[in-house]
Amino acid sequence: MKEQLALLVALQTMDLKRQKDKERLKDFPEKMAIAEKPLNDVRSEIETAQAQLEQFVKDRKEGELDLQTIEEKIVKLKLRLTDLKTNKEYHAHLQEIAAARNTKSETEDQLLAAMEGIDQLQADLTTKEAQLGEDELAFSGIKKEMQDAMDLIVSEAAKVEADWQATSEKISKNLLASYQRLFNSGKGLAVVPVNGQTCTGCHFSLPPQLIAEVKRESKVLTCGYCHRILYAKLPEIPAE
Ligand SMILES: [Zn+2]
Repeated sequence: MKEQLALLVALQTMDLKRQKDKERLKDFPEKMAIAEKPLNDVRSEIETAQAQLEQFVKDRKEGELDLQTIEEKIVKLKLRLTDLKTNKEYHAHLQEIAAARNTKSETEDQLLAAMEGIDQLQADLTTKEAQLGEDELAFSGIKKEMQDAMDLIVSEAAKVEADWQATSEKISKNLLASYQRLFNSGKGLAVVPVNGQTCTGCHFSLPPQLIAEVKRESKVLTCGYCHRILYAKLPEIPAE
């Protein structure tokens, strides 16, 4: 029975590692996403800046066309001045020219704003793209480290799986079934040592008779309170 208990403790160590590995593997996608987030933030800032830049380029083109149209209009209006016969007509025409000049000035302001916007955004984009390049380089290093760590866990897990199979085959079916029921109940350890008079699983004091029987190691005994399988002292655990 002593050997069976030792095997069970070894199996439990493997199950704990299996649980831990599973947790760690589960966390990887989230960790990877967290590591990549600053990168995605810069990428989306670049996209926004590019969209703004396109808009400004469009505005500039429209502004240039508008300016050309208004300049041509002013030239034509000026040419017609000499054709006008009455004073009234002449004044109305001058007003029309003044209005066209106002429009021209507004269009020039808009054009200037678009050009300044283009300069500003181009400078911003240069900075952000350089930043993205640096971030991408840093992230590719982190990504590789994480991928390697994950690969290591997967390959170790395969070894643990093989050890688990080999060890479980040496344990009696009934004992294995009881152990698995306990372990899978999610209350932590299924097989625990006694410490003096106490069950180290639930920390209740056990009857001296039970402790004596546990120390004899002649049969499988369980704690009356938490039902965990008890053993006297830590059996040899195979090196991982
Ligand atoms: Zn207990």
